[in-house]
Amino acid sequence: MFKVTFWGVRGSYPVPRRDVLRYGGNTTCLSVELDGALVILDAGTGLINLGRAIDKNGPDPLTATLLFTHTHHDHLEGLPFFKPAYKASTQLYIFGPKSLSLDFREILTHEMLPPYFPVTLEEMASTKTIVEINELHSILLDVATREPRVLSNDEAPRRPADGTALITISHGSNHPGGGIFNYAITYKGKRIVFATDVEGFAGGDARLIHFAQGADLLIHDSQYLEDEYNGPVSNKQGWGHSTVQMGVDVAKGAQVKELILFHHEPEHDDDTVDRIEAIAKKDFPHSRAAFEGLVIELD
Ligand SMILES: [Zn+2]
Ligand SMILES: [Zn+2]
Repeated sequence: MFKVTFWGVRGSYPVPRRDVLRYGGNTTCLSVELDGALVILDAGTGLINLGRAIDKNGPDPLTATLLFTHTHHDHLEGLPFFKPAYKASTQLYIFGPKSLSLDFREILTHEMLPPYFPVTLEEMASTKTIVEINELHSILLDVATREPRVLSNDEAPRRPADGTALITISHGSNHPGGGIFNYAITYKGKRIVFATDVEGFAGGDARLIHFAQGADLLIHDSQYLEDEYNGPVSNKQGWGHSTVQMGVDVAKGAQVKELILFHHEPEHDDDTVDRIEAIAKKDFPHSRAAFEGLVIELD
């Protein structure tokens, strides 16, 4: 089983509003189930509902691999409210980038220091293995034991052996504060690419197109309409996010099987996200806008 679930699809900040109920207001978080193993992509407020679901239905004890694209608030603020992190039986393997002059452990620790939060990261009862990685690393996940292992790209296999999943990284520099990691997860011959908080280039980001080549699923930032990105009223160029067309350009260039539009602008209501989806479908029919609760199984 290769199952992707969207727990938070919103960018920037959570939006508890009536006009966003169809797509959802929680910020970035996905879970990827690889038979028995669980990978979590980012820890925005969507992580809180994932934690509630695990608390109710298991697995118990939980072992999970948590990958951070970067540590802006909308990708991190669910972690202090992730229920399984407060259980001693939980083992979390947490991977992410350094940013500016701070190493990855410092970044996670600082977010939960007083006066920002009453409980420190260390005080959460779970065992947390925090590892800073960069794009020269790959992660090999043993699905049976749920143990991830960091390798250099030279040591990593091109295709994961049976019973393992391969996670690779491409650094995207076009996002404020040191860029982000795009992640690819390959398992049982299927491949998904997660590319959020990326700002594209005209005709498509060539490095990302290479990284996403032939993917079964590309989840791509599509925060802006064209006139918001570069219009007379709103000009979001340089903010580190893409127009829907930039996502479509990457999907076409990389010849992916399906494009998922992601990191919805919090000012956009459901009807505006519908419009964004319609724009994408015109040029790349296998497109759809992510919504909270969307489940995609790759077989
Ligand atoms: Zn974001
Ligand atoms: Zn960001």
